[in-house]
Amino acid sequence: MQALLINKDAAGYTAQLGQIKEAQLPQGDVLIKVDYSTLNYKDSLAITGASPVVRSFPMVPGIDLAGTVEKSDHADFKAGDKVVLNGFGVGEGHWGGLAQMARVKGDWLVPLPSAFTSKQAMAIGTAGYTAMLCVMALEQHGVTPDKGEVLVTGAAGGVGSVAISLLAKLGYTVVASSGRVEETDYLMSLGASKVMDRNELSEKGRPLAKERWAGAIDVAGSHTLANICASMKYGGTVAACGLAQGYDLPATVMPFILRGVILAGVDSVYRPKADRVAAWARLAKDLNPTQLDAMMTEITLSQALDTAQGQIDGRTRGRFVVNVNA
Ligand code: NDP
Repeated sequence: MQALLINKDAAGYTAQLGQIKEAQLPQGDVLIKVDYSTLNYKDSLAITGASPVVRSFPMVPGIDLAGTVEKSDHADFKAGDKVVLNGFGVGEGHWGGLAQMARVKGDWLVPLPSAFTSKQAMAIGTAGYTAMLCVMALEQHGVTPDKGEVLVTGAAGGVGSVAISLLAKLGYTVVASSGRVEETDYLMSLGASKVMDRNELSEKGRPLAKERWAGAIDVAGSHTLANICASMKYGGTVAACGLAQGYDLPATVMPFILRGVILAGVDSVYRPKADRVAAWARLAKDLNPTQLDAMMTEITLSQALDTAQGQIDGRTRGRFVVNVNA
């Protein structure tokens, strides 16, 4: 079987296309024939070694997979079932989805929603499922479309693209923050009403700024997140899920104690199963399939190796679905 394999030894850190045997797969109670995987920011960190994401070597990366159950000793799944996996440390500490087969714990799987093919599920992937969790976090904190503009950062990336599409379909007025003005037509086609230059948010700002955003979904962290908090409307909510600018948060408590701003952290990796199933059901209902096609590029396993550095450099757009059988 084909797989990407990451190694770290005396020769250094390497990621390459290789061959694995079923007997080498890690322990688990469900064996899956992988149809598609994806390339998320975290996968690109693993492949390039830009951040110590991989916890043991050799490692098959790929935090997502969609495929068909071949064998199962788990009560919830049987041979032939279509399943999706996002996170749970797969592709970091347990061999992941960038391979033709995977063996995982059945507790990590959710059934593929009938609205999606395996390929569509991976066009969504962890990035899209996280975007949905962020939208749900805004809803849980009372951010409704009538409250005002919602900001999405990293707009041309995976989380950002899906977040814009979801929010627009739900009736929100979405402002897209991007470092790439050349992607304005793309961002407007997904439903953004305006595009702003991310440089407006990326430098150290004041503890409080003019109130603007009813809600925000932030993938950047660092000064960007601090400036967003400072410019939230009274009682607004920021769903924070990423660190594309940095993992620091050079903010003050002022937005929280004077404007009641809510900072809602969003983790997708160890999210309980009920939340995952709910998020996938919402994606089936609220994501426009035509826009999903527009934000998706299909690549092969070996192309994933070439694409990873571009993603870390912020040069890629939308979502990458990896055809592991090509
Ligand atoms: P992508 O690489 O697809 O998109 C990231 C985008 O961030 C880029 O396209 C770029 O968009 C923007 N960006 C890049 N550098 C900077 C910078 N210095 N300052 C501000 N914006 C920047 O990644 P994903 O969308 O898949 O993931 C985004 C982030 O969310 C990552 O940090 C990832 O680790 C995190 N994440 C977290 C999850 C969780 O469970 N908490 C799950 C999924 C992702 P543009 O050019 O439009 O500005």
